[in-house]
Amino acid sequence: MVLRVDSDRMRADFDALATFGATPDGGVERTTFSEAHVAARAWFLDRARDAGLEPHVDLAANHSAVLPARDPGSRTLLLGSHLDSVRRGGRYDGALGVICALEVLRAVRDADLDLPVALEAIDFTDEEGTLIGTLGSCALAGRLSPELLAAPRGGREVLVAELERMGLTEAGVREARRDPATLAGYLELHIEQGPVLERAGADIGIVTGITGASSFHVVFDGETRHAGTTPMDARRDAAVGAAAFVLGVRETTMRTFRGCVATVGDIATEPGSFNVVPGRARLRLECRSLDSAELDALERALIEQAHEAAREFGLAVTVEPVGRLEPSPTDMSVRAACATAAAALGLTTLELPSGAGHDAQSLAAVTPSGIVFVPSAGGISHDPSEHTSWEHCVNGANVLLGAAVQLADRARVVPV
Ligand SMILES: [Zn+2]
Repeated sequence: MVLRVDSDRMRADFDALATFGATPDGGVERTTFSEAHVAARAWFLDRARDAGLEPHVDLAANHSAVLPARDPGSRTLLLGSHLDSVRRGGRYDGALGVICALEVLRAVRDADLDLPVALEAIDFTDEEGTLIGTLGSCALAGRLSPELLAAPRGGREVLVAELERMGLTEAGVREARRDPATLAGYLELHIEQGPVLERAGADIGIVTGITGASSFHVVFDGETRHAGTTPMDARRDAAVGAAAFVLGVRETTMRTFRGCVATVGDIATEPGSFNVVPGRARLRLECRSLDSAELDALERALIEQAHEAAREFGLAVTVEPVGRLEPSPTDMSVRAACATAAAALGLTTLELPSGAGHDAQSLAAVTPSGIVFVPSAGGISHDPSEHTSWEHCVNGANVLLGAAVQLADRARVVPV
């Protein structure tokens, strides 16, 4: 018999959750520690209590519902996502994963399964990066470095003020780390946020890993000259070099690095007027790949591309690395459990990388981790029009349930 979630119960929760921070266009706005976010998290703990699960909040303000195992020394299988959103976000990103995790715990309890691990539905703090980005999962995985805390994405002052306002401390947040020996794995359900599953007509995405990303400042230097009096063949126009580079990035990536993406996300020319040939162009380049060696090769090829564009148009160029995040492959056994669960439900699957960051990225370094994707209509996300059909949502929840039971069965009970 294949275990299934209660679709109506899950729908009622999903709709109730979407009222917290609801925007008139059908989306939600629940940035980290906003009034709507805090209220949504309190509601989540209430739902956990109503279901007879144990509510829990750790020192990084991660909110959990726990279904304990009979043996108190059992490890914990984490299932989760995040209840925070971007500004003017959609109602599925993160929220669906938390609702599905909660529903999986209820389904397991209703079926009276005696699992050798505790199940924990967890809502990680600040996945979207109002403060730091994947703050809660990094803290739990023990990957919250002093450097990250010193220069957070949302600004140091905001971080300090918000932690204090919420009664949290930096020392406490770092103490939220859990011993990996107490964990049996992490599995997350998330919307794809891209068009691949919909295009392929697949029900379920099994994520092979989260791509690594590296970023660079690229600056082309030429000569600032009068746009009316300087002949076309006597110019060293930085914007022309930048344009050649942008097209070259696209061509090289599509031709030689088929599994990768590369983007010039920003171009600014100086001095920036109608009547002056630009003497300088500043660009921001980002590359992503699932494979570390391939990311190296892509970086080298695109840096060479910048030099080629500079040579062609008589410019000087500098390429300065800004940062690099290594790829996080998901665990093979977790992927296999998801595939088996989907097959048992008669659902079609597709393996694909995740180009977006997720909490699983933090957890993958310390415990076997995986992600189940459900299709995003039109590939749209981080927007109020973000949508996944309810059938796809329920399919995803059932795969999460089946995979969790398999992983729990497989986990050996070790004393902690
Ligand atoms: Zn998300």
